[in-house]
Amino acid sequence: MSKRDYYDILGVSRSADEKEIKSAYRKLAIKYHPDKNPGDHQAEEKFKEAAEAYDILSNPQKRQRYDQFGHAGNSASGGFGGGGMNMEDIFSQFGDIFGGGHPFESFFGGGGSQRGGRRVARGSNLRIKVKLTLEEIAKGVEKKVKVNKQVVCHTCDGTGAKDKSSVHTCKTCGGSGSVRRVTNTILGQMQTTSTCPTCNGEGVEITARCTTCRGEGLERGEETISINIPAGVSEGMQLSMSGKGNAAPRGGIPGDLIILIEEVPHETLKRDGLNVIYDLYINFVDATLGTSVEVPTIDGKAKIKIEPGTQGGKILRLKGKGIPEVNSYHKGDELVYVNIWTPKAVSSEEKELLNKLKESPNFKPQPGKSEKSFFERIKEYFE
Ligand SMILES: [Zn+2]
Ligand SMILES: [Zn+2]
Repeated sequence: MSKRDYYDILGVSRSADEKEIKSAYRKLAIKYHPDKNPGDHQAEEKFKEAAEAYDILSNPQKRQRYDQFGHAGNSASGGFGGGGMNMEDIFSQFGDIFGGGHPFESFFGGGGSQRGGRRVARGSNLRIKVKLTLEEIAKGVEKKVKVNKQVVCHTCDGTGAKDKSSVHTCKTCGGSGSVRRVTNTILGQMQTTSTCPTCNGEGVEITARCTTCRGEGLERGEETISINIPAGVSEGMQLSMSGKGNAAPRGGIPGDLIILIEEVPHETLKRDGLNVIYDLYINFVDATLGTSVEVPTIDGKAKIKIEPGTQGGKILRLKGKGIPEVNSYHKGDELVYVNIWTPKAVSSEEKELLNKLKESPNFKPQPGKSEKSFFERIKEYFE
């Protein structure tokens, strides 16, 4: 299933600023809000789609990642193991869209306070590092990682209560999680809503705590998480999997798992962006007479031909033997840099032979027009 472009969803240009994005989303959110379209499945999908697009494009970091990598760059796209956004996430966005102090319901003439009022607990994000070899980066890999994290308490099932009889509806707010206050202003009566101080917005009071988690609803645990890493990632890149971070108590929303990519240096190959570089050394006899050599690549060995009369500093390009670009068919190359090995020590016989060769007319440097200058070679390399 291919995803629609986030900019298309919101109907804004790729250069739209924060204000345009916010205003476009506000219009869509009002149009497709479930309270306005009860039972309309299509409207709900459109509502969720718009919320997801806004979630990505309103966050400079996520937006940059999206511009660069498309849907593979962000967890909320679902392309990276994430499950998209749920309604709780969406409604929690509204605070900043419709401004503080203006409950969303006011746009629809009241109703639906249940949804807006009660605070839902959130688990914290969890960060891990994943080390990848160049071969894994080139092909993409599924990593199974054992993560030590906060999980839902097995004794109380996350409620934090000793048993069912110790969970009560909060008396202060009647379970809604918020308290209303009416104040008189020059504009008339104003109603403000704030988080219930007794239950901290959760709507319940616990009279006896679970002894395993001391009422936290959480305990330490382990989970093996399978992480699908797309081909082409690089050192320092962060991927996130929504809902795979620390658990939240009382049926709340778990945090995200943030995966920091680390590259393990390759023994013989060096990465340079999408290209892979190999430093080849041949002796001047092979350079003179020509030969065939094997060079390592990210998928096995490759045989390459060295033409007779090859100069040191020549760069040979193995097309498509580099790193693929994330979320693209574009691939880098392997560049084989030909170095002529100069012996560091010679025997007296070798010395004699070399001195004889030195006198031979062919051994006098006589660069012709076909030799590329150092400058030209560098330029070629960066193309
Ligand atoms: Zn517990
Ligand atoms: Zn309360």
